[in-house]
Amino acid sequence: MLRKKVPRLLQVFKRTSHCDRQQYDVIVVGGGHAGTEAAAAAARVGARTLLVTQKIQTIGALSCNPSLGGIGKGHLVKEVDALDGVCGRAGDWAGIHFSILNRRKGPAVWGPRAQLDRQLYREFIQSDLLSTPRLTVWEGSVEELMVEEPNPEKPGRHQVTGIRLANMETPISARSVVLTTGTFLSGSLFVGQTSSPGGRIGDAPSSAGLSHTIRERLGLRTGRLRTGTPPRVVKNSVDVSLAKLHPADLNPTPFSFINTQTRCKPEEQLPCYLTFTTPAVERVVRENLHLNCHIQQDTKGPRYCPSIESRVLRFPGRQHQVWLEPEGLTSDLLYPQGLSTTMPPDVQLRLLREIPALHKAEIHTPGYGVQYDFVCPTQLSPALQVKSTQGLFLAGQINGTTGYEEAAAQGLVAGLNAARSALAMPTVMLSRTESYIGVLIDDLVSRGVTEPYRMFTSRAEFRASLRPDNADLRLTLKGFEELGCVSSERYKEAVRVRDTLQDAMAALQSLSALPHIWKQKLPNIEISENKSGELTCMNLLLYNDVTIEMLASVFPESLSPYMEFSQRLKIEAVYRPHCDLQKREMARIQREETMLLPEDLDYFSLPVSLSQEVREILDRVRPTTLGAATRLEGMTPAATVNLLNYVRFSN
Ligand code: FAD
Repeated sequence: MLRKKVPRLLQVFKRTSHCDRQQYDVIVVGGGHAGTEAAAAAARVGARTLLVTQKIQTIGALSCNPSLGGIGKGHLVKEVDALDGVCGRAGDWAGIHFSILNRRKGPAVWGPRAQLDRQLYREFIQSDLLSTPRLTVWEGSVEELMVEEPNPEKPGRHQVTGIRLANMETPISARSVVLTTGTFLSGSLFVGQTSSPGGRIGDAPSSAGLSHTIRERLGLRTGRLRTGTPPRVVKNSVDVSLAKLHPADLNPTPFSFINTQTRCKPEEQLPCYLTFTTPAVERVVRENLHLNCHIQQDTKGPRYCPSIESRVLRFPGRQHQVWLEPEGLTSDLLYPQGLSTTMPPDVQLRLLREIPALHKAEIHTPGYGVQYDFVCPTQLSPALQVKSTQGLFLAGQINGTTGYEEAAAQGLVAGLNAARSALAMPTVMLSRTESYIGVLIDDLVSRGVTEPYRMFTSRAEFRASLRPDNADLRLTLKGFEELGCVSSERYKEAVRVRDTLQDAMAALQSLSALPHIWKQKLPNIEISENKSGELTCMNLLLYNDVTIEMLASVFPESLSPYMEFSQRLKIEAVYRPHCDLQKREMARIQREETMLLPEDLDYFSLPVSLSQEVREILDRVRPTTLGAATRLEGMTPAATVNLLNYVRFSN
């Protein structure tokens, strides 16, 4: 059952919003993906919370691609949901094409993903915030952060005291403030050779006053990053018969642990299509590079969502994938993922039309780029609080990340801690060993960023145990018992799930039979002849083709009560040995921290599995020890193990 019915109440939402200018516990600035999770989490913890954003109608807006989840990102959505966040439920409501990416690999690295209906997503988020107790939403632009100068007893530490809105003299006070200004801080938009101030198309940048407080008053180090988006194409002008159909999964898997189905019925889902660029696209890009000032600048863009200009320059002569994705159930537009560009609009049209399926394409809105300031995240604590300013928390793209999911995950942690700090409770953190959220925040605050950071499964040391399927067991119980951001209804359900799974695992461990009995009962499974002694159900589950349903046909009385969790149990049983191995590998890396890396290593030709990104970093920095290599930005645990094995065993 899908729990939430969404009324279409945007007008009511606007009317009921009010800002009484009294003291709030928490003020959240910005109603994007970080801000909405921050505001909702702060209110769930019990704080009187105010969300101030430039335009209420853009709360929950998807600035770029209409999709949620994916590899690594899907893990973040599941974890935010396990902590009672909003985005997973919104995804289930607004999803119009669900698929699990990476299915050829193990369930630990599957990427739950959905194409979204933009309007439905926005409506759900807005409606959910409206019905959140203790949360007030106010439309306005924050002009200035109110801060008290450092207390002489705690030199160097400012104290945030509130905000001041544009066109309003009197500040609004709060004990904690969460800044989630996304791409809006000193934002500039770029198309061709023109640029104009803006945070997103149709939206003004964040005020100069806010940048001033951050840089001059608080003395925070900032940097500049960029990103871009493709043109939106009129659906009727695209010949999808010339592209490859990519249907959705037959059985859509909800993001949220409290939903058993998605709003969109399986047969109502819309397809995506795959097509490719041609050599002519590359020619048009190369001939017109001089007309594109965004791409000519040194500012770093997202490595994993590069513009077509960057793709052509980095990988000349290649065909590049272009996904044609629906923008909504009733939308007349398609989103050509892979064609992010900041060329002048007429050049955008020419390059689009060099792709067979798009040879008659009409552009509805041209692609554009945005450049914005971010705050170097090493200045934050693991609670996402600015180390030098008591009560100031930052989350989302302002911390140098890219993506809705990364923003939502940080927003939840910042909002939760802003509330705890305001209510005089100790701040809390999530560790790398228990969550991808912990990996994300640890990477940001301990390594910093030099280019927009996005999540990948390879960034997590404990991939085998940090799976999308078990995020509720990892986080919901802690979320209720220690963090205070999970409802008792969700908690009770997580306890039921945990207890049932524990009972089931114990049963699977205790039920056993001799190999020849198993062979009689399950004749289609090839059980090794060499096996002697009893084989437990747990042993049998390690065989690819063995399901819980098969085992229940052998032990119906003992196992049929657990059929509700058959898929989870199979995954749990298969991953137990991997989890143990991972723990041993991590212990080995820690033991070998001081191992010297040869000075003359040619990282580009090492015959081991290392991504191009990791090879480039290693070659540039040339760390002297394995420990130094592990601390490099972009260095993954998997790469560390491969490097360790190579150096240890190659001589
Ligand atoms: P946003 O979603 O940007 O929200 C910020 C909010 O703060 C807005 O509602 C804004 O109105 C509000 N705000 C700002 N300043 C103030 C103020 N002073 N007072 C009150 N409110 C304020 N992500 C990808 O993963 N891949 C991509 O390829 C990609 N391309 C992008 C292209 C473009 C052109 C843009 C604009 C974004 C792109 N993104 C991309 C980024 C994606 O949109 C962000 O990662 C995500 O939205 C970040 O969420 P956020 O909450 O940090 O900020």
